Amino acid sequence: MALVIHCHACQKNFTIPEKAKTRIDLEQITGEYFRKVCTNCAAETEYHINDVTAESDKTPMLISSIIGLVVMFGGLFFPRPFIAIGIGGAIMSAGWIAGNAPDGFNQYRAPRSRDIERDRKIREEMKFRKGDTNFNT
Ligand SMILES: [Zn+2]
Repeated sequence: MALVIHCHACQKNFTIPEKAKTRIDLEQITGEYFRKVCTNCAAETEYHINDVTAESDKTPMLISSIIGLVVMFGGLFFPRPFIAIGIGGAIMSAGWIAGNAPDGFNQYRAPRSRDIERDRKIREEMKFRKGDTNFNT
């Protein structure tokens, strides 16, 4: 599993290094609000833990599948192929479990303690200051 944030500056997702199984675990590491630098465009932004999404990570799935298959095929040349097939299958499933995004992370959303309406007003005001001609009140 990988934890990703959608960057509004470059509209791309970037992975954060924190390892957390749930949002509550993540909050204990980063706090409810935290600053992150986008690995694509280097824009530093403040994020809320709800902005983080869990995605399945293909790398451990791919690696475990390859190793698992090699062990399985290798086992065919030995007197007890079932043991090798069992071990290969265990390696594959371990990799898939590690790579899969657990449902729990994306389902739980933390209540935002900060005043959202106030945040929105500040953002609108900043947009206005930048001279956005589409700004309407
Ligand atoms: Zn970015």
